[in-house]
Amino acid sequence: MPTPTDQPDHPVVTRFAPSPTGDLHVGGARTALFCWAYARGREGAFVLRIEDTDRKRSSAGAAREAMRDLAWLGLDWDQGPDPAGGERGDHGPYFQSERLPIYETHLERLLEADRAYHAFDTAEELDAKRAAARAQKVAYRYDRAGLEVPRAERLARAAAGEPHVIRFRTPDRPVVITDAVLGEATLPAGEVDDFIIRKADGFPTYHFAVVVDDALMGCSWVFRAQEHFNNTAKHLLLQEALGFDHPTYAHFPLIMNPDGSKMSKRDKDKAVRAEVRQRGIEAPPPDSIDPGTFSAWLSDKKAQLDHDDLVRLAAALDVQLPEINVRDFRRSGYLPEVLCNFLALNGWSPGDDLEKFDNAFLARSFELGRVQKTAARFDRDKLLAFNLDAIQAMSPEAFLDRVRAHGERYHPDFLARLGDRQFELLVESSRERSKTLDELFRTNHWLLEDDERLAWPVTKPVRKAMFKGEPTGLSLLAEVRALLEGTEPFESGHLETALGAWAAEHCEGNLGRIAQPLRIAVTGGPVSPPIFDTLEMLGRERVLRRLDRCLESLSATEEAG
Ligand code: GLU
Repeated sequence: MPTPTDQPDHPVVTRFAPSPTGDLHVGGARTALFCWAYARGREGAFVLRIEDTDRKRSSAGAAREAMRDLAWLGLDWDQGPDPAGGERGDHGPYFQSERLPIYETHLERLLEADRAYHAFDTAEELDAKRAAARAQKVAYRYDRAGLEVPRAERLARAAAGEPHVIRFRTPDRPVVITDAVLGEATLPAGEVDDFIIRKADGFPTYHFAVVVDDALMGCSWVFRAQEHFNNTAKHLLLQEALGFDHPTYAHFPLIMNPDGSKMSKRDKDKAVRAEVRQRGIEAPPPDSIDPGTFSAWLSDKKAQLDHDDLVRLAAALDVQLPEINVRDFRRSGYLPEVLCNFLALNGWSPGDDLEKFDNAFLARSFELGRVQKTAARFDRDKLLAFNLDAIQAMSPEAFLDRVRAHGERYHPDFLARLGDRQFELLVESSRERSKTLDELFRTNHWLLEDDERLAWPVTKPVRKAMFKGEPTGLSLLAEVRALLEGTEPFESGHLETALGAWAAEHCEGNLGRIAQPLRIAVTGGPVSPPIFDTLEMLGRERVLRRLDRCLESLSATEEAG
């Protein structure tokens, strides 16, 4: 079988061909990344094709999101739909649903050559045969019942509009698959049955469309996940029947959870369900999701909540959802360049223990010989550590810009509540500890909290900071109020000087004695950015309001016991 890519100067054209049936999975993103890198490193072209022939499951919205995700990752394509409108490249359309006349032409060729045939089996007939195979514990293969109908009759019935599919007439011989990562495998004769190439709805099946498109779009290299490996036999046979060259195939290992399970959407439901069970929660928190939906979901271990509901419920319970799709990583505040770097390491390595690199390096260095054969395990802690390192290596200005852009997209309410100076203080004081761009929005809810609703549950650290020692933190708080009222301007540096002097006088220079009670009073908890920044971010008025309410609330508690 000739492979055009055997010729060294054959142009490299790779393609990524997502089915827009949901969000782009990280595994898909990794395939796209490798396709992109291979083409970019060899002056080739990278094609994006949207495989939307499954009309029930595909959506234009999902295709748009996939393009957005790819663009966010920095993976630009030379041919494919142009998100700004129209398309790039001369081999379009790049949505398969718009290519039906093209598929028809090639189907016609197969029908004429008697390499394909109309089959009129009903769903009931096929179901019965499948059930019989199951009962006999043998693998089901289509028995070519369709071919018992004479050819002229088949053509006449199809022309008369009788519902039918078109099947490929699979030659009865072994098929050898050659894969640039996995090596060679031979499928014995009879393994591939007469599979369907056009469905009853008139749409081609994946196998047919992919073969026609790869050929017409000049895709000389086909990279995809290992789950498609066996499909390759069908594709090779179709290419032969249609007189197309064979591309070079490479199938990449899957990306799994560390425990070897599949990284799937279900993991998110699992994480929330585990928290609900552990806390013995029987009803959804107020303002989260519908109670009926909640109990139906809780009682069925396999049930999955609608994504928005899941996000709402997780937020109400403060559960961090495991990221599965590119969109999840983006929302969680990972940097796209870090995600690309990390994804590349899931299945490939440049050697020499090199782990940190950018997409330009990947494009220069990526080769199929170093792609691993076995599944990769997705190590979230390592990803988080990579992200932290990248954030720490950033300039304060770059971090500010990126956090602001992240906030504008995911936390507009947060930004709307803070002035520029407050926001800059928050970002700068959180920079060194931030593992993601999202973290500071998640951990600083105290800033958004309504002053009148802030509460001080008496947890262990609160008890220690407020009620212990002589004088107690609470009494120091009452005393420091006047200072806060009078300090002008109410700015971090100024507050530091003033409170330092105050501590020297009132608590033997031990600033911690007043800093922690103050922090609890103004944030409701023991953790926040440095106290002077925290105070400035809130502003005098809010600080005093919170202080007064805290004094009132905790004095009552202290008296009570
Ligand atoms: N549409 C297929 C998928 O998303 C693409 C497989 C291929 O690359 O051939 O799995």
